Amino acid sequence: MGDLPQLDRDSQFSYACNRCMSCCHDAHISLDPYELLRLSRNRNLTTTEFIARYLTEGGIVLRNRQDTSCVMLGADGCTVYSDRPQICRTYPLARRRGSDGEIILRYSGLTVSTGVYGRQGTVSDFLKAHEVEDFFAASDRYFDLALRIAAILAAAAQREPFRFATLRDIIEAHCQFHTAAIPSLIDVDRVVSDYCRERQLEFPANLAEELALHMQAVEERLAIISATPADGVDASDALDEMAAFAGALGAATKARVLLAFVDAVFR
Ligand code: SF4
Repeated sequence: MGDLPQLDRDSQFSYACNRCMSCCHDAHISLDPYELLRLSRNRNLTTTEFIARYLTEGGIVLRNRQDTSCVMLGADGCTVYSDRPQICRTYPLARRRGSDGEIILRYSGLTVSTGVYGRQGTVSDFLKAHEVEDFFAASDRYFDLALRIAAILAAAAQREPFRFATLRDIIEAHCQFHTAAIPSLIDVDRVVSDYCRERQLEFPANLAEELALHMQAVEERLAIISATPADGVDASDALDEMAAFAGALGAATKARVLLAFVDAVFR
């Protein structure tokens, strides 16, 4: 990834997709909670059902079929096109968060692809045409949340050093897709419906409200972790749950959660 050419929003760029669908084979599409929600609603499923039916590698990666095609690919193309994930919209570009804002990278393209690169427009034009801004905004929020969780877990490991190795291993397993265990906090519908039931709130009417409540539910759990052990509660399960979630968010948003956690512990 480090060797890929870097562009900015004003760079001359265009890409004509000729629907060869080669980029929908052998892909490794990891989802953040917003992407998961969009796909789940497209399929008329809860996130719990969608995860069980279509995701793998810790519940955040779209399955591929045996012939390497994405599980969402149909005979005429993507079956969830209006709700396809961010990378499917930006490809052959990819957007990352850097220390000074966003980084736009350009893949060189698959040798079997019939897509045609050009310069008839700008990166901005291309991104606008693929309606990516809601995806970028949600991804940025979860990127920031992942790093904040890492800092809070690091503080817990500093207070109680015996927790360090366990938290590091959990984060690493999820960051690197080395586990089949699904972080409970990734399951947005379940987290939000539990949260609403416990507080006798109406379930949110739209995705933006649901995402906001998902964040709020996580924030409240983080506040409890931050306060422990001052209030004498054993937070082991909550810490492990949060470490798994942070690792999964790191994998989905490319936030360097493991590095942030380890750095903060030994700072
Ligand atoms: S979600 Fe759709 S566009 Fe993305 S890889 Fe799968 S089939 Fe292709």
